[in-house]
Amino acid sequence: MLSTASFLLGIVAAEVSDRCCHQNKVLRYQHISRSTTVKRVTIAVFLLFLALMCSTASTNAQPTQPRKYIAFRDDDVAPFTSLEPLEAVNQVHIDEGVPVTLGIIPHPPREGQEGNELLQDGPFHTYMGSIASNPLFEFAQHGYTHQDIAPSPEGPSEFYGRPYAAQYNAIKQGQADIKEAFGVTPTTFIPPWDNSDHTTMRAAAALGFTDYNTDFSLQDIQYGYLGGMRIEGGFTIGALNDTAFTKTILEAQNVTEQFLVDPHADTLTFAYHYWAFTDSMGAVDSHKIQQLMNFIDFLKTKGVLFTRLDRSTVTGGSEAASPSSSVGLTVATVGKCIPTPLLLVGSVSAVLFGIYGSAQRQSAPRNKPKHK
Ligand SMILES: [Zn+2]
Repeated sequence: MLSTASFLLGIVAAEVSDRCCHQNKVLRYQHISRSTTVKRVTIAVFLLFLALMCSTASTNAQPTQPRKYIAFRDDDVAPFTSLEPLEAVNQVHIDEGVPVTLGIIPHPPREGQEGNELLQDGPFHTYMGSIASNPLFEFAQHGYTHQDIAPSPEGPSEFYGRPYAAQYNAIKQGQADIKEAFGVTPTTFIPPWDNSDHTTMRAAAALGFTDYNTDFSLQDIQYGYLGGMRIEGGFTIGALNDTAFTKTILEAQNVTEQFLVDPHADTLTFAYHYWAFTDSMGAVDSHKIQQLMNFIDFLKTKGVLFTRLDRSTVTGGSEAASPSSSVGLTVATVGKCIPTPLLLVGSVSAVLFGIYGSAQRQSAPRNKPKHK
């Protein structure tokens, strides 16, 4: 707003300057005084100063509407599974420049398997190591064994109802395994099947997790904060069945529209499983991959920001659509003062024009006789 006003002021000032110049031409260089030249340069410098002020003010401007964040969460990333679908969906995030939080199962059940399994599947370890430092990928922890050893009223669970020490130790071991394998300490915890209890949350908070991402289906868990740990929910997209897959994408679009007009929600998580992006033969399903890309493109038209659950990488927000399509659109472009570059160019031009005009007049013969 300020920059626009400054820009208009600049145009007006330039107009005055131009008119002044025109009058001088009419006077045919008569009575050109040094004070006029100084005045021109002063106006030009003032414009330049105004442009710089505008630029600073725009950069520091506060958003007038709440920011809207979208987070993607990919569950069940584990050793000894097919890498192709995981690499395919990760490539979508790379191509789109959209971050994703990877929910890693540190110790999936295997016959006779001991030690840190994340180190024991060579191709998996190599691939995950290759993306560990990519800021688009957050390495989160998705349970420890992901076994249904403590079923909850909501369904299967690895943790529900277990003693604090058992839950704490399992989560601690998984956290240590991820750190050992990839040099990254996970700070986001995702309970398997989104089923856990308050003890799980307390254990995760005690272990330094700062984000606890679970599902809306848990009626007894209140979203908010616990011991400095943010507790939030997600909406699951994707399915093995083609029709069901497409249906979840359509539902996700509706959920997004609701989220955009909800003044109390700042982040919406879309959870999926990379293994759902396969066909009946287990091969990567390019149609499903395309649907994920289209969905991300749909989100981009809404001007949302994309974040990892640990909030350390945020992208997007530069493709805001018309204001009617959602709230929170304008926040995406806050800090980018579009007229400012134009104003800067205009002001610099005005300075050059002033100097050029001044030089022209000084080189022109004074009191050149052009009387009729
Ligand atoms: Zn899972």
